[in-house]
Amino acid sequence: MRRLLIATTNLGKQLEFRRLLADLPAEVVTPQEIGVELEIEEPFDTYEENARAKAVAYAEATSLLTLADDSGIEVAALGWGPGVRSARWGQGRNAERILEALGETKDRRARMVCALVIAHVEDGQLRMHAVRGDVEGTIARTPRGAGGFGYDPVFLLPSGVTTAELRDAEKDRVSHRGRAMIAARGALLDLLVARP
Ligand code: IMP
Repeated sequence: MRRLLIATTNLGKQLEFRRLLADLPAEVVTPQEIGVELEIEEPFDTYEENARAKAVAYAEATSLLTLADDSGIEVAALGWGPGVRSARWGQGRNAERILEALGETKDRRARMVCALVIAHVEDGQLRMHAVRGDVEGTIARTPRGAGGFGYDPVFLLPSGVTTAELRDAEKDRVSHRGRAMIAARGALLDLLVARP
């Protein structure tokens, strides 16, 4: 089976990718497992460019078929930020920082966004395929739920539950990352099956 590297050291993302990729004919590996952990800058203004930077760095360093993700939360009352800056902005306490920043603000519209890039080297040429997934919601008044990671306890879906309250399979079905994976599936399968 062809190896597929998930180009992230974020344990929450790794868990989700393992689930989302479980039924594909791939041996999923992480940077920690193969002993290649790269420090990659995320200087760009778009998720896709940042995801490309991660995908290219890992694909070139390992020659493995590589899947990279760049994601973030966009909040109306924060000028649709922090967006691509979500990781740095959250400083490890993502949910609390959003609640502090919004206070009693009435407009709590938000969305989560994920760009996925598949990269691989073929005949000496680097090839890439990019997709995106979004999910609309609002910011809750208080954190709820023990599942997921990052902003999940405060990201409220139109159904009235936060993404941290969903069972894993439910989050995968509706999340920005789950939706991006649906969009990436055809290209990934082609690379795994047609060119194992
Ligand atoms: P990056 O993609 O590594 O730049 O990180 C994006 C930021 O958004 C990090 O702070 C993540 O914790 C957060 N984030 C990404 N995906 C999710 C998610 O599915 N739920 C909650 N927070 C997320």
